[in-house]
Amino acid sequence: MRRLSLLVLVTALTATCCGAASAATAPLPPVDLAPYAKGRSEPVKDPIFPAHGNPSIDVLHYGLKLAWRPARRSLTGTATLTLRATKPISEIRLDFGHALKIDEVTVGGRPAKARHRLDDLTIPLPAPLPADHGARVVVRYHGVPMPYESGQQRQDLALLGLRSAADGSAWALQEPFGAFTWFPVNDHPSDEALYDVAITVPKGWAGVAHGTYRGRTEKGRTATYHWKSADPVACYVTLFTVDRYRMYRAKGPRGIPITYWVRREDRWDLPVARRLPELLRWMEQKAGPYPFPSAGLVVTSRSGMETQQMITMGDDFLRPEVVLHELAHHWFGNSVSPRTWQDVWLNEGFAMYFEIQWTADHSPGSMDDHMAEIRSREKAMRKEMGPPGDYRRDWFAGANVYYGPALMLHEIRKRVGDERFFAMTRAWVQEHRNTSQDRASFTAWVNQHTGEDFTELIDTWLDSRTSPRGS
Ligand SMILES: [Zn+2]
Repeated sequence: MRRLSLLVLVTALTATCCGAASAATAPLPPVDLAPYAKGRSEPVKDPIFPAHGNPSIDVLHYGLKLAWRPARRSLTGTATLTLRATKPISEIRLDFGHALKIDEVTVGGRPAKARHRLDDLTIPLPAPLPADHGARVVVRYHGVPMPYESGQQRQDLALLGLRSAADGSAWALQEPFGAFTWFPVNDHPSDEALYDVAITVPKGWAGVAHGTYRGRTEKGRTATYHWKSADPVACYVTLFTVDRYRMYRAKGPRGIPITYWVRREDRWDLPVARRLPELLRWMEQKAGPYPFPSAGLVVTSRSGMETQQMITMGDDFLRPEVVLHELAHHWFGNSVSPRTWQDVWLNEGFAMYFEIQWTADHSPGSMDDHMAEIRSREKAMRKEMGPPGDYRRDWFAGANVYYGPALMLHEIRKRVGDERFFAMTRAWVQEHRNTSQDRASFTAWVNQHTGEDFTELIDTWLDSRTSPRGS
């Protein structure tokens, strides 16, 4: 008896030990990253918001299957992330909202014991992942999402991420970060990725996301809306919106397919939304071909945002010059993205400049008149919010990063002339399509294209605590 027991025990121990050892050291199944090559980025740590994002991984593709229940205002999700290690790693850390509960996490098809603490999801890997090797992570989750309280001075940025209303509708806006309130994400603009998103809602509701609308399927009492982004997307311009939308189709320049998603109560907004083809045409004349295969506009309850291929417009914001502004971001911000939030002026300076130019072209007052008016107000913004290239951290996307850089661009235009200025801005976006850029690369580009040294002018406009005098 004794001897037998010992033998059984030894066998059992050996089996446990070896089974565990082989599982712990077996390498992850290889992942072919080639189909996702367009989603490859070089993520960096953010100097302004270092707590968000993780430069040791590069997510190439997000497959998001999301179901929204308006009656409970709850979200159920399955997120499949195809990612690459940028250096050898033994765990994967993602940003993921604490309000959502994890049901299961797998890596390479094997269950993983993930730790979910505050807004961080840490997934230990069964075997170390060498640099430039891929892994596939699946996270199943559910819960009632909670927006993030940002402490930002800008009122429409005080809450970031997914929000819902008492009527069951939901919308997500998240600049500079906050996508983590609805899916596990490497929440930084330097890690752009491709997306396939499916949003399931009860019939009568519609789910709108970033990317190209790929149609709707029905099952029982639900409908699923399918969206695809074949161009890389920074997570701050992703979109999740559920409401009782009616969809309208249109065509833009060169046959670009357009969809408008409008609620019954916002039907009076439709005439402004329908100006999208005209605004696209105007932008194409200034900045070259629209960089994405489809465009659209969805009406929600607050603010305006350049969500990729599907502009989000608050019902109180829907004016043609604001639509033009968000559209301009598709060239300046979405296609050519800021590497970090230090350079948000690269987005807002250009979008503001084109908004002012459009306004000057469509109303009394010349471009110079508009710029003079802005100049008179710029001093106070700089004083309150800091210089545009070194703004106060609680003043993200304040007026200072819009107007000072727009004045700077106008100065460059005055020096080089209209033709060279627009040729240069057009080449900047067309030649840097689907890349991340920063002040250094922009300055080098301007200097190279003009044959003049604009370094001091640019640095002064971005860094000076007082308003530069200008010409
Ligand atoms: Zn903007």
